[in-house]
Amino acid sequence: MVSAHFEMLRRSHDCDRCGTSIRPGDEYAAVDGITPAGDLRVLLCTDCAAALGRFLDGGDGGDRDDDGAA
Ligand SMILES: [Zn+2]
Repeated sequence: MVSAHFEMLRRSHDCDRCGTSIRPGDEYAAVDGITPAGDLRVLLCTDCAAALGRFLDGGDGGDRDDDGAA
């Protein structure tokens, strides 16, 4: 199971996928995943989050827990 949600970052951090620097105040996505080895959390820039979202959607919408509120 993987869930992604957008938060505000307090310290700068690099995107775990592409390495883009995410600055405090920038929108990013914290992606929480449960793996057999334990919990996993990665921070993604919005571009990677969008790409991951499309991948996770798999063309089967309706199971997203974000309501899209701005
Ligand atoms: Zn990225």
